[in-house]
Amino acid sequence: MTENVQAIGVDFHCHLDLYPDIEAAIARTEAARIYTLTVTTTPKAWARNHELTRHTRFVRAALGLHPQLVAERAGELLLWERLLSETRYVGEVGLDAGPRFYKSLDAQEHVFRGVLERCAEAGGKILTVHSVRSVPAVLDMIERYLPQDRGAVVLHWFSGSKSEARRAAALGCYFSVNADMTRSDRGRAVVTELPIDRILTETDGPFTQIDGRPSEPTDVRTTVAAIADVRNLPVEAVTKLVISNLRSLLA
Ligand code: MN
Repeated sequence: MTENVQAIGVDFHCHLDLYPDIEAAIARTEAARIYTLTVTTTPKAWARNHELTRHTRFVRAALGLHPQLVAERAGELLLWERLLSETRYVGEVGLDAGPRFYKSLDAQEHVFRGVLERCAEAGGKILTVHSVRSVPAVLDMIERYLPQDRGAVVLHWFSGSKSEARRAAALGCYFSVNADMTRSDRGRAVVTELPIDRILTETDGPFTQIDGRPSEPTDVRTTVAAIADVRNLPVEAVTKLVISNLRSLLA
């Protein structure tokens, strides 16, 4: 990742295409030198996201099929498969067993299995994975369908238990932490336990807010400060750590 050594922060899960002006959001992120993975929720959004990030220094686009959309869009797995060779980055993908999406869980598992299997075949992909109320199932599927030497997984907005975090770490997963996670006792307890060499930062903007407005990649500094507080480390050390972890992930 020689082209990214100048990054001063990392937002490894953000939805820049859900802001009112994606081009302006990308320009602000580039100017701020925040390494940002902008995820998509449907493969139909890929072409434009890819086009706008082909030549950016700090912003990369990921090819996704969001579990919350699978009820209506499971058929788009074929399009997702066709596009996979165009990118190293995959997401947002995963499972959501929350009350609104539970009824599509079988279809979600079918899609997520397909995603993991295609990534394992291709090799070298980096996935940002959603696991709401489904951490054990997500980890079971990663263990079964994506061997550690065939791809890397970043668990986004991880909400599992400490023991689930340990299992995920043993499977090679990274964790992208956002500010909301550091605001609950349970979230802080998990952040305390995460292996220090697997921590990244994210905003999941615009789905998180800061000061009453949607978060942007530059707001990862808030999360870095919160992690520093929870881990009792200097802010500068956490900033360096996150960039070093990014470098290891991309290497
Ligand atoms: Mn998201």
